[in-house]
Amino acid sequence: MRTIAVYPGSFDPPTYGHLDIIERSSRVFSRVIVSVARNIRKDTMFTAAERMTMLRTLTRSFPNVEVDSFRGLLVEYVRVVDAHVVVRGLRAISDFEYEFQMAHMNKKLSPEVDTVFMMTGERYSYISSQIAKEIARLGGKIDDLVPPLVRERMLRKLGRKK
Ligand code: ADP
Repeated sequence: MRTIAVYPGSFDPPTYGHLDIIERSSRVFSRVIVSVARNIRKDTMFTAAERMTMLRTLTRSFPNVEVDSFRGLLVEYVRVVDAHVVVRGLRAISDFEYEFQMAHMNKKLSPEVDTVFMMTGERYSYISSQIAKEIARLGGKIDDLVPPLVRERMLRKLGRKK
């Protein structure tokens, strides 16, 4: 059976935590569509196009991973791309409540779609895009949080060279 999975998120910016989930999903599903949500928040550091470009470069070595974006209802998008699985990552109990609600709501809206959760990798449990942005803004080291390409683009956005 060929299983197509959608991994949706803001990815503002992509972190090592996201990449870990992408790599592991690519081993579980026959095709993984990493999809950038275009309408969740307006105050993003990167445009959807910039986030997609970074994700494409970072996932180049995975032949069954592709990058796309979506607007509107996730389950509607999942139906359009002919997928039946949504992948989400779980870091802490704090993620659980929101994810629990979303998974149930999506199941109600589209019973044929299942949400599959991947536990964060031990080394990545404390990483979030938000934390990476905050540390970068305060001039801290983000080498362990995001790949070099993302780090460079973040520093450029913040008007710093290195
Ligand atoms: P969203 O705004 O949709 O939560 P994010 O880009 O913050 O978008 O996250 C996308 C998905 O990746 C979510 O399921 C989130 O829980 C998961 N995720 C983010 N960071 C990590 C991490 N360090 N480890 C595991 N999963 C993560």
